[in-house]
Amino acid sequence: MNIHEYQAMQWLQDYGVRTLPGFVCRTVDDVRAACQQLGGGPYVLKAQVHTGGRGKAGGVRFAADEAEAVTIALHLLSSRLVTAQTGSAGLVVQIVYIRRAIDINSEYYLGFAVDTQNGCVTLLASAAGGVEIEQVAAKTPEMIYRETVDESIGLRQYQSRKVAGQLGLEKDQVGAFIDLAQKLYCLFVEKDCSLLEINPLSPDSEGLLLPLDAKIKVDDNALFRHDEMRQLNSQADDAIEREAGKLGLSYVAMDGNIGCMVNGAGLAMATLDLLCQSGGRPANFLDVGGGVSQEKVAAAFRLLLSDSRVTCILINIFGGIVQCDLIARGIIAATREVTVKVPVVVRLEGTHAEAGRELLSQSGFNLTTADDLVTMGQQAVQLAKKGVMS
Ligand code: ADP
Ligand code: MG
Repeated sequence: MNIHEYQAMQWLQDYGVRTLPGFVCRTVDDVRAACQQLGGGPYVLKAQVHTGGRGKAGGVRFAADEAEAVTIALHLLSSRLVTAQTGSAGLVVQIVYIRRAIDINSEYYLGFAVDTQNGCVTLLASAAGGVEIEQVAAKTPEMIYRETVDESIGLRQYQSRKVAGQLGLEKDQVGAFIDLAQKLYCLFVEKDCSLLEINPLSPDSEGLLLPLDAKIKVDDNALFRHDEMRQLNSQADDAIEREAGKLGLSYVAMDGNIGCMVNGAGLAMATLDLLCQSGGRPANFLDVGGGVSQEKVAAAFRLLLSDSRVTCILINIFGGIVQCDLIARGIIAATREVTVKVPVVVRLEGTHAEAGRELLSQSGFNLTTADDLVTMGQQAVQLAKKGVMS
């Protein structure tokens, strides 16, 4: 789960990190009020969307005064921000975070990440922080310093001190850096993060280190033990993903046009691969799982139908624990409530497959049945090209 910068800043404050004051604005009036509260400019207005690279894409804008801030907010609010990480659809900006813009001479990068290969947390830092950090990592990785944290003893002072030296921090900044790294490490562990990045971390005019941007990712598998994050989790960017989350379905939105309903993550991945191999693009990953109910299948099918990008639906079920006739009943129940305007390709195999196929063929519901996986993928891709029926 990604959280927004303004939420990350709140977490930093909760852990005692000094940050610049900031205001969350949903309207131009909010921006006016925020400017008043912050006092004089210059201000920085930052689009709150779950992506990095906002600065380069025009999502971080500087305003000399309130009037300019309002003009920028008018432009940013409700616009779509397309960054190097969002894909061409971009993300709609609903919130702008406004803070005082400060004079900065240097931009450090400080992050913590889970090193899955070594099964530990790693501190990462660089003196070449800022909007080009990805280039730095790709072209000059030696400019990124790493410290592996031993989980049983936590981040040690000497490790942060060593990194402070590598970054070339001033003597009187070292203590603050060690303190900051310690606080961030605690936050990272306690909140079950998989990534925490402060980029840039910049000294203000008095040399005090300030986090000017924060990106935090929480491990989804740990969300069950963080009731306090439930609210944040319901803010997924994609409306259908949000709905699916409420239903407890494993759903990930993708950028194609073939809606997929599959059981089992392995089969779901294989199905997506098959579609791509046949020249198609999946609109989503949806694993209805083993112990799914008829109602949940119906809800999942309705979700796929509600996606305006979807021009064909592919149902690929291998009945093991889940029974194919239950899947068929769920689909039929859904089609009683919503008109199906897209072609549907179905492959049912395994437990009660025969009964499931029988139910579907008797339902009068127009569908294409597929017997083998390869044909299934090809049929779905071809039908998706023909698209929506009137
Ligand atoms: P992103 O990483 O998504 O591009 P950032 O919040 O890091 O967005 O902003 C991009 C750049 O804008 C930063 O690297 C920094 O140079 C500048 N910046 C951000 N906030 C401020 C601020 N409060 N004062 C001065 N410069 C800032
Ligand atoms: Mg940044």
